Amino acid sequence: MPHSYDEFNPLEAAEARFDLAAAALNLNEGMRKVLRSPAREVIIHIPVELDNGRLEVFTGYRVQHSIARGPAKGGIRYAPDVTLDEVRALASWMTWKCAVVKIPFGGGKGGVICDPSIMSDRELERLTRRYTAELIDIIGPESDVPAPDLGTSQQTMAWIMDTYSMHKRHTVTAVVTGKPVDLGGSQGRTEATGRGCLIVTLQALKKFGIEPKQARVVVQGFGNVGGQAARLMSQAGLKVVTLIEWDGAVHNPAGLDIDALGAHRKATGSIVNFEGGENVDKDEALYLECDVLVPAAKENVIHSANAHKIRAKIICEGANGPTTALADPTLKAKGIFVIPDILANAGGVTVSYFEWVQDRQGYFWSEELVNTRLEEIMTASFRDVVNYAEKHDVDNRTAAYMLALDRVAFTIKQRGLYA
Ligand code: GLU
Repeated sequence: MPHSYDEFNPLEAAEARFDLAAAALNLNEGMRKVLRSPAREVIIHIPVELDNGRLEVFTGYRVQHSIARGPAKGGIRYAPDVTLDEVRALASWMTWKCAVVKIPFGGGKGGVICDPSIMSDRELERLTRRYTAELIDIIGPESDVPAPDLGTSQQTMAWIMDTYSMHKRHTVTAVVTGKPVDLGGSQGRTEATGRGCLIVTLQALKKFGIEPKQARVVVQGFGNVGGQAARLMSQAGLKVVTLIEWDGAVHNPAGLDIDALGAHRKATGSIVNFEGGENVDKDEALYLECDVLVPAAKENVIHSANAHKIRAKIICEGANGPTTALADPTLKAKGIFVIPDILANAGGVTVSYFEWVQDRQGYFWSEELVNTRLEEIMTASFRDVVNYAEKHDVDNRTAAYMLALDRVAFTIKQRGLYA
């Protein structure tokens, strides 16, 4: 690593993993340069009139890392700490993620520096519509298909779809995924990332010979990914013993009632003081002994200074980039079985792919069909990654990157270079 290496810059984490996999694959120098850099980056400054009449300018990004295997695909994040480097890293992770699960997309990501928690719906709508209008020549069902991510929702996708459609003079549902079901969204999309986490966790438990009913799970994050993962895991009989949020953590050794915890949060605004569990320290909760740890909140929660404290047998990375590259060797030395983000949380984009297919066909599937096909893809992808890791004697993360890089490089080689 260069001495200026910043462990907490997600782009450096993405590049460190990329370099490791590229070297293991013996990828030639030129191809490394192509795959390492994003294909296109757009920076826009978005004027928005706030409700109080004041004019504010927000900065937004859209990065298309690769369109080699299909349209760029990936979410849009609204958060105060969005950076271009973060969006670049997230865009490249989308390319690898789509390649790991073999869906015909490249990778992209968007972000706007704003704090949605202090903005009204009207302000968010104006921001979203103007951001979409600025991207009108960039996004589209054949070119770049956004989806929700941190700070954005089904509603955000509905605004994007409507704005895009107004410009095109006809309804174009396939321009975004993660829409409300009534507007061309897919059954099962909201649960998809959490369901994907459950599917790969069950596979990992099977490998360890742990009965799901015996499995103790710690989940960090109670947003869409962590919330759904916790709910579906407890429905499947696993014991979600601890839930960690930004403002506290709750623990119940017999397993938390996730629906009741959700209702408590809705009523009080927080998971703390839940009567079905006891409050525990949120930092220490990450280090509890457990079978499965699901970091499903933000980047960089497992890093070089705390990786040695993790006492989980399995880590299922629900978030993008929850582990820094410098933490990887420690987790490996401890023998922790990591299901890397680009596999573990790929259920979301997989059902996004189903949504895009349904929109383009104008023919919609039952939730059962969506879930069956999701399970097939996640199970096959888990098997591919784990078999590859065993065959090449590398950890699961390196195996997932190697598989993905190889697939994208193969496509680029076959297509040849346009010059
Ligand atoms: N934001 C999600 C992710 O990081 C979903 C992306 C998508 O469905 O396009 O995987």
